[in-house]
This record gives sequence, structure tokens and C-alpha cells, in this order.
Amino acid sequence: MKPQEAARTPMTCLDLPDAVLGKIRTPLWIFDFDLKRIVWANRAAVVMWRAETSDELYARDLGRDMSASVALRLKQYREDFLRLDTSFSEYWTVYPHGEPVSTRVVFTGIRLADGRIAMLCEAGEELEETPETRRSTDALLHTSVMITLTDMGGSALYRNPASRTSVPTNEQRLEQRLLRRQDYRRIQSALERDGEIRIVAEASTTRGTCWHEMTIRKCRDTVTGLEALLITEVDVSDLKDAERRANYLAHRDPLTRLANRGFIQQEGQRRLESGAEENRLQALLFIDLDRFKNINDSLGHSVGDRVLVEVANRISDIAGPNDIVGRLGGDEFVVLLHPLADREAIERVAIRICDALARPLSIEHHELLVTPSIGIATYPDNAGSIEELTKNADIAMYAAKGFGRNGYYWYSPSMADDAQRRMTIEIKLRRAVEQNELQVYYQPRVDVQTGRIVGAEALLRWTHETLGSVSPATFIPILEETGLIRKVGMQVLTAAVRQQLAWKGRGHTLNLAINVSSLEFRLPRYVDDVLGVLQSLGANPADFELEITESLLLSNDEATRQKLNALKDAGISIAVDDFGTGYSNLAYMQQYPINCLKIDRSFIMELDHHSAIAEMIISMCRLLNLRIVAEGVETPEQLAWLQARQCQEYQGFLFSRPVPPEDFALMLEAR
Ligand code: C2E
Ligand code: CA
Ligand code: CA
Repeated sequence: MKPQEAARTPMTCLDLPDAVLGKIRTPLWIFDFDLKRIVWANRAAVVMWRAETSDELYARDLGRDMSASVALRLKQYREDFLRLDTSFSEYWTVYPHGEPVSTRVVFTGIRLADGRIAMLCEAGEELEETPETRRSTDALLHTSVMITLTDMGGSALYRNPASRTSVPTNEQRLEQRLLRRQDYRRIQSALERDGEIRIVAEASTTRGTCWHEMTIRKCRDTVTGLEALLITEVDVSDLKDAERRANYLAHRDPLTRLANRGFIQQEGQRRLESGAEENRLQALLFIDLDRFKNINDSLGHSVGDRVLVEVANRISDIAGPNDIVGRLGGDEFVVLLHPLADREAIERVAIRICDALARPLSIEHHELLVTPSIGIATYPDNAGSIEELTKNADIAMYAAKGFGRNGYYWYSPSMADDAQRRMTIEIKLRRAVEQNELQVYYQPRVDVQTGRIVGAEALLRWTHETLGSVSPATFIPILEETGLIRKVGMQVLTAAVRQQLAWKGRGHTLNLAINVSSLEFRLPRYVDDVLGVLQSLGANPADFELEITESLLLSNDEATRQKLNALKDAGISIAVDDFGTGYSNLAYMQQYPINCLKIDRSFIMELDHHSAIAEMIISMCRLLNLRIVAEGVETPEQLAWLQARQCQEYQGFLFSRPVPPEDFALMLEAR
């Protein structure tokens, strides 16, 4: 349809003779949304649009210079007209021949003869506006700030284009737009009290849920003079997201993304208080990985980190949505369980965590086994706050370690005494080391076939006047943690070398084995220190053996290899202690100058039931040409088993416990 033809059609809908319309002094015109042209105008409108004739006006393509925001607004008007019989009033600036003409315009939907919707526009008087008002009106139309004027019930009286774009329908009231009911209540009470409020709230918009910063102020509608609300809104979703992300990160452990200590303290306390119900238990599981330090020391931190991430994932998989899983640092994890009915339910979670972690982890070609020790404490019976709960679960965790690791243990108040006891031990141990009060005992190493003493293992002993005899299993870790192990290690070596020389002087040449902590071995000067002691005392290095741990070999690092080679070149032999308990990889053994394997006591203990592993270790050693020492032989049956397999040496209570040197000398003489 040509505009000229279309122009004739709407006239009929106005139902007034042309002559009358021509006399009306108000500019009136009809805008066709599709053609983006004026398809009919009265005389006053032709003048207002600064046109020569109506045909000249109809020929103008208004779509050509139309800004995007105006186009969008027109589109919305059309949609509103399609749905409703409505009209809008707006200050409008048109630009005939580039000259701004501002007037108030009332827009009304009107059906053309062909059924399409068009817009009847009715201008007020041309406004003699100052440039400021003109600019401010224009700014209102083009700004991204959403501006809405509503009546006191929140229904829109006016929306600027940005506001109109953000709502699905013009009729949507403020209350309906806010996601949270309490936000609307806050607004209402603040308006009543102060007449004004600034609030950041989530609003549903045509772009989905967004955070809007809203300023709402009571005012008067200039048209009706009634009370109204002026609402100014800015979308602050990006800011809010950044804030939420920062907030999230501040509460997270960067490595595992679990809750961090701060969050557990804060949120945990809140949970404890709000979750305190009768007949329900709130438990905190304190999880510490057994011998994680070995992995870190021997395989490096990047492997250690990956182990921690995998452990975190496995624990998270088990925890429920209402449990808090966190990492306190290092290899310490906690799980604050939602209130549970009984201890069995809590234990089931602990068992599931043990099982989940029991599956081997494969990281960078290493098959690793990590086992957890778990301490459990409950609120409110074991503790009155989250701090205390954590501390007591930690104490219970230490008890779990004491009970052989890879298991869980419930807190009991007497354990706090144990923790106190450890502190006491540490203080007394320092003094004992300073005053050289630790003693070295010797346990014979015996030839399996001949029954003769061929060597001895030096074992530390500490007897304190009030504490009594303290097990090395208790105090060696403390020596390691405090760094005293270096000094004590050299004291043991010196004592053992002196003893060996003394026995040699009496005609008994024994091979003496000395235990080496991985921590000592890693000291840069370790090899020099050892050789220095041997040399200064005039001992033969070939008479000594150093017992190292399997984990030391796992690192596969150059420094370890160099040190072992240097010791071997000097003539000292190397034994791997407690073989079979760690990562037991015989392939590693081949890469190092190892002379001897000590089969761990646990395999000897089990010989009656399961001998397969011991059997396998013995046959592998034969292949690799390694000497075997069986540890912890307590019965003649065990000895007979070893004899049948041509194992070379054994130690154990069957022959003798570790004894002071005087007693050892008696054994040698009695032979
Ligand atoms: P280990 O090197 O495996 O030492 C053998 C342990 O088994 C000793 O425990 C010994 O008394 C015990 N034992 C020997 N025969 C039998 C037996 O037939 N049955 C049973 N049930 N046990 C037996 P001990 O003396 O309590 O030492 C524990 C651990 O402390 C040692 O384990 C070793 O790892 C460490 N240790 C001891 N002395 C030193 C030392 O001077 N330096 C370092 N770095 N560690 C040491
Ligand atoms: Ca040993
Ligand atoms: Ca051992």
C-alpha cells in the first residue's frame, strides 16, 4: 500500500469531515509503525512539522534518522496498544528539517481500515522550552537509568524507555517486580517513616533476575497533583556478582575450594546455635591424613596439592548438602555434620570417609594410598563453642593416630589430659636431650641358619623419673617436629660407633644398624656428619648399616641418590626399614644402592594366616640380590618358616629384646 493511498483510509476512522478536522488547531497526525511514516495529518500538524503540504509530509521517511531508543519505544507503544486501549503522554521533540520542536504529545492506539494498529498523535502547544529543559527531557529518554513514576500503589504513571524495557508489561507493579517480599515491606515502612529509601534488591526483569539499586522517593504527580513515587533504578548486577565472588573467595580455601577456617568459625557457630535440638547430635569430624608429610617431602608439593584436592573431592562427595566441609590448612579437613539422631549415624559417615579415601589415588604415575585418622566430638556435650568443638575433635584425632591410624575415634574428656601430657613430654624431652639423658639399647641381629649374633640395631630409650619409660614411637615424632632429631641422631650414631669399637676390641666384630629419620637424612650436611663421626673415632664404615624408610626413596630425587651413593662409596651399607608398610615399590629399590630389606614385623606376625606377601618379598629380594632381615620374630614357628626360605637374619623377642650394652656384652660372652 502506498502512503498516499493509506492516507485516505484513516480519515474515515476519525468519522469527521475533512473540513472540520482542518479547522482544529491542535496538531493531529497518524503514524504508521510499519511504514515509519505519517500517513495522515491535519493542517495544524503540517505546520508543526514545518511541511509545505500534507503530501510532502507523508513522503518523509521518519525511520531514516530514527535513533535506536526511539525505535524501541515505538515498538513498545505498539505492543501496549495491541493489548490495551490506552494512551501515553510525553514531552516529545521532533526535528523537522533538523530544527527541534518540543511539545507534549498524547499517543493513542488506533486501528487502520486494514486492521493494523497505528498511532494517533495529538500535540499540545509548542513549548517555548529553554535549552536546559529540552536537554533534560532528551536525557531522560536516552539514559540507561530506569525512571518510573508510580501512584502510591506502585502502578506506573510514567516510565522512561529504559524503565519500560526492563518490565514485561507496563502494568507490572513495584511489588510484583521485587523478588523478595521483605524488600517491599522495607520500602513501604521507610517511605512511611522517611519518605525516601535507597535499597539494593533483586528484581525480575525482561533480562532475568537482576540486582537493582533503587532510590524511591515520595513526590507529587505534576499532572494530577496526587501523591506519587519517583523510582530511579540502576542495574548493579555486575557489581553484585563481583562482590559475591569476592565474598565467596574470602570464605574459601584457594586450593580445594572448601570452606576455610574463618568461614567454619563463623558459620559453624551459627549452625551449632540454630541447630541445637533435643535428642540430636551435632558432630564435627576432624580428619588428618596419615603420613601426608611423606608424600609432600618425597614427591614434592605439586603432587601433595593434587592429593589434597582429590581428598577434598572425595570427602565432599560423601557429605550431605547441609554439612559444612572445610580445610583448616595442611592436611587437616573438617566436616560439621547436620544434626543426626545417634552416634551410629555419625560413625557411618566416618566409615564412609575412610572407605572413600582407601581407594588408591593415581597421580602423575604414582599410585598413592592415603588413609585418614578421624577424631569426632559432639555439641553440646563435648563443647560449648565451635572453637572448643574443633579443638576436641583434633584431640580425638590424635588419639585415632595413636590407635594405629586409618580409623576414627570419639572424644573423651580424658584425652584433653593426653594433649596436656604431650606438652609436658615435649618440655621434659628437651631437657633430657640437653642433658644427654637418652640411652641407646641394642637388639641382636641373628643369623637365621646358625643362630649366631652377627649384628645389632641401636634403639633409643628414654626413661624419665616421673613419666617412666616413654616409647620411641611417642618421642621420635616430637624430636622430628622440634628439630632436635639432628642432635639426637648424631648422639645415637656416636654412641653406637663407640660401642661397636669397644666390642670389636674384645674380639666381637658386629655390624651395627642405626635408624635414620628422613628428616635427618634430608639435611644437606648429613653424609659429611656421618662420615665425620666414623672418621674421628677411627671406625670402619663397612661395619655399619643405616636403616632408612621406604618413603625416602619415593622422592626419586637427585639429592637422595647422591647421598646414598656417597655413603655406599664410603663402604656403609643401606637397609630399608619396615619394608612392606609404605608404598612398597621394588622397582624403586633397583635404582638405589640398597643392600638390605627389613621385612616389617606385621608380616612376620601374620605368617600363620597370610604368608604370601612375606613369601613374595623374600623371592624378590633374592632376585635383586638383597639381604633380608626379618623383624619381630617371637615364636619358633616363625623362625622355622624363615629357615625354610633361607632368609639371612632375624631380630625379635624370641632371641632377645633390645637391651642395655652391658647385657648385650653378657650375651656375646655367653655365646
Ligand atoms: P623400628 O626401627 O622398626 O624398630 C624395631 C622396633 O620393634 C623396636 O621398637 C623394637 O623394640 C621392636 N621389636 C623388636 N623385636 C620385637 C618383637 O619380637 N616383638 C615386638 N612386638 N616388637 C619388637 P622401639 O624400640 O619401640 O622403636 C620404635 C621405633 O622408633 C623404631 O622402629 C624406629 O623407627 C624408631 N627409633 C628407635 N630408635 C631410633 C633412633 O635412634 N633414631 C630414629 N630415627 N628412630 C628410632
Ligand atoms: Ca629400625
Ligand atoms: Ca623396623
